[in-house]
Amino acid sequence: MPEGPEIRRAADRIGKALVGKTVEAGSWPFPSLQQADSLILGHEVLSVTSRAKAMLIRFSSGWTMYSHNQLYGRWTVHLKATDPRSNRSLRAEFLTDKHAVRLWSATDIVLVPTPEENAHPFLARLGPDVLAESVSKSDLLAHLKSKAVHRKKAATLMLDQRSFAGLGNYLRSEILHAAGVHPDDRPCDLDEATLKRWADCIKSVTVQAYEHNGTTVDLKVAEASKARGEPRRMWRHAVFCRNDRPCLNCGELVVRLRYGGRRLDYCPTCQPSSRSI
Ligand SMILES: [Zn+2]
Repeated sequence: MPEGPEIRRAADRIGKALVGKTVEAGSWPFPSLQQADSLILGHEVLSVTSRAKAMLIRFSSGWTMYSHNQLYGRWTVHLKATDPRSNRSLRAEFLTDKHAVRLWSATDIVLVPTPEENAHPFLARLGPDVLAESVSKSDLLAHLKSKAVHRKKAATLMLDQRSFAGLGNYLRSEILHAAGVHPDDRPCDLDEATLKRWADCIKSVTVQAYEHNGTTVDLKVAEASKARGEPRRMWRHAVFCRNDRPCLNCGELVVRLRYGGRRLDYCPTCQPSSRSI
């Protein structure tokens, strides 16, 4: 599933095509979009943004289209004249003077009045969006030290959208590796310096993934690997999906664990358990 950085990049791409433009035509075959002809058609797109893994498109009618792609939804942006040729089911189509923006296959789509968008059940349950500029590293540190979470395992905490909205599987593995935190450690097991490093990495790894197309490994390591002609899957991440291969930091073999059926890859050398020391 795309994580916060991928959805934010998609929002940027869609925003370039739509913001400031009037929706001149389109189709909205999805049942929850029946009011689109009056609430979208002929209205200007004011903004396109994301919150965690949700996309929000706001219109001058005072309404917002909320959508969540889950595993299968997909956005496309084309010039209006381009035939998109997709076997997927079209859910929403926005045509401006130049572009065609389409949403395919998603099933979690709804129109809500813009002032009420935070009351949407998914958004109402979200904690601070890690990518939001208003969320600082010290905010993240304060949350890690809060009573609400200080006895939760790192592996659980990193996917808790009420704590760190927008993180998913690959960011979980990569943040914990960058911070040197064992997935079974809890904030209460760690010293101040480690907690601070963990909070810093939650922000910096996620922001780097947003700015560098999902690359979470140290950028110098990525450049060196690229220069050797290695494929992206070899250098995109430091540990995620590198199980049974050498850790890019220390050479130890990366180990795959599962928590609630979801994979987590980690390096036993870079991420020793604080609980066994
Ligand atoms: Zn390592």
